[in-house]
Amino acid sequence: MHCPFCGTHDTKVTDSRLVAEGDQVRRRRQCAACGERFTTYETAELVMPRVVKSDGSRESFDEQKMRAGMALSLEKRPVSVESFEAAVERIRQRLRARGDREVEAREVGEEVMETLKRLDHVAYIRFASVYRRFQDLDEFRAEIDRLSQEPNHSSSDDDNPR
Ligand SMILES: [Zn+2]
Repeated sequence: MHCPFCGTHDTKVTDSRLVAEGDQVRRRRQCAACGERFTTYETAELVMPRVVKSDGSRESFDEQKMRAGMALSLEKRPVSVESFEAAVERIRQRLRARGDREVEAREVGEEVMETLKRLDHVAYIRFASVYRRFQDLDEFRAEIDRLSQEPNHSSSDDDNPR
């Protein structure tokens, strides 16, 4: 790391800690040549992978679309905003952690399903039952909209575990 004050290469890390809930590393550095101190932030793979759709086309990861599908599945379920946000963040982290620049749309859907399964079983079943047939969040959303119009959309005994 170059010193931003004198440009020398020789700087050393004097302190290092995780910030932003572990998403960033903040390092305090000191230049061995001029003695100036400065701080750097490192963020691992902030960029989300691009999504490869089933027809082979690529698009940017669309978090809003993913959130919309999850929110529809969670409609009227006892899941707090905090839990929902944590679930979204978990999916983002898991997709980034793959370290791939591209991810198949199918795999994004599977991450959502895995996460919903841990969050709320009914939401998981709603999502999975529709998603498995469509494999695409756009179509999924349309189908969920349709299902939510139907009266008494039951999802088996899982509504009443006991
Ligand atoms: Zn310096």
